Amino acid sequence: MDRRDFLKSASVLSLGALAGCSFSKEGAEAVAPAVGDKQLGLQIYSLGPEMYAGDLAQNFQKLAGMGIKKLELAGYDPKSRKIGGVELMEFKEKAEAAGLSIVSSHVNPPALFGGEAGKETRDGSDGQFSTDKKDDILEQFKTISEDHVKLGCKYLIQPMMPVVGVNSEDECKAFAEILNATGEAVKSFGLQFGYHNHNMEFCYPGKERLMGDIFTRPKEGKMLIDIFMENTDPANVCWELDIYWAIMGQQDPVELLTKFADRIPALHVKDRCILGDSGMVNYQKIFDKFFANGMTDYFIEIEDTESGKQMERLEASTNFLNSCDFVK
Ligand code: MG
Repeated sequence: MDRRDFLKSASVLSLGALAGCSFSKEGAEAVAPAVGDKQLGLQIYSLGPEMYAGDLAQNFQKLAGMGIKKLELAGYDPKSRKIGGVELMEFKEKAEAAGLSIVSSHVNPPALFGGEAGKETRDGSDGQFSTDKKDDILEQFKTISEDHVKLGCKYLIQPMMPVVGVNSEDECKAFAEILNATGEAVKSFGLQFGYHNHNMEFCYPGKERLMGDIFTRPKEGKMLIDIFMENTDPANVCWELDIYWAIMGQQDPVELLTKFADRIPALHVKDRCILGDSGMVNYQKIFDKFFANGMTDYFIEIEDTESGKQMERLEASTNFLNSCDFVK
């Protein structure tokens, strides 16, 4: 699909698609629609430090007031076994007191990414993938699973591919094989293991995999995401589709929800910033297809977590979703 076709694609360009929705732009006077029984979820990464600023219990109440019902965690530390520095059970009790349930969690075990002292990335590793670490990875996931069972979670999600070492078809298959084994281990705890995409998975195998590279690399063979999906067992690994990153990878989320209808039980609902503001995401078609697939778990995500305005942006985003008839 070339860029022109891509922009014509129904679920990407949303002219007219926002009929029936009213939404407020950042900084504008907001008239909040009624908060109903929609099952809004939130990836708490969206709030950055604002999640923990002031009183955590009150922050959860604020989220509930916006209509948030489900949480997806980010920031679980396998070493301290805390979430954002807060004891797990304290976090759970405060969330549940506000009527929020913990449904999912993004976990990035250092072993999966190799790890080398002194060369740490933000996920606490050197970004190198190594199959030699398989036993360590599975061992780490035992502890991780035990903790997430206590939290009442349904999903454990691997948030990305290692930055280095998953480029060729064989490397992608090796990564898929480790995730298969992880998914099987995680399943024995009653949890569903999944993978969350960015845009890099929609490029073609090559020597290096860089942001934006997909636009210039020759499109030969299969995309990494297709190799990955073909080589993971649906019983062990599901896909949490990030619709914004799929669009950044020149994909149509509705086509993906059609092709992988039974493998995408969860969505990251996202835009450039506030949901609904860019006009480039056709939320109606995406939600319609997702619900038609029989799926129900979706999580709002907003980047730029250091802005200091994340709570405000979340409120504008929930106002948008609460005003959309097609959101359930
Ligand atoms: Mg995401």
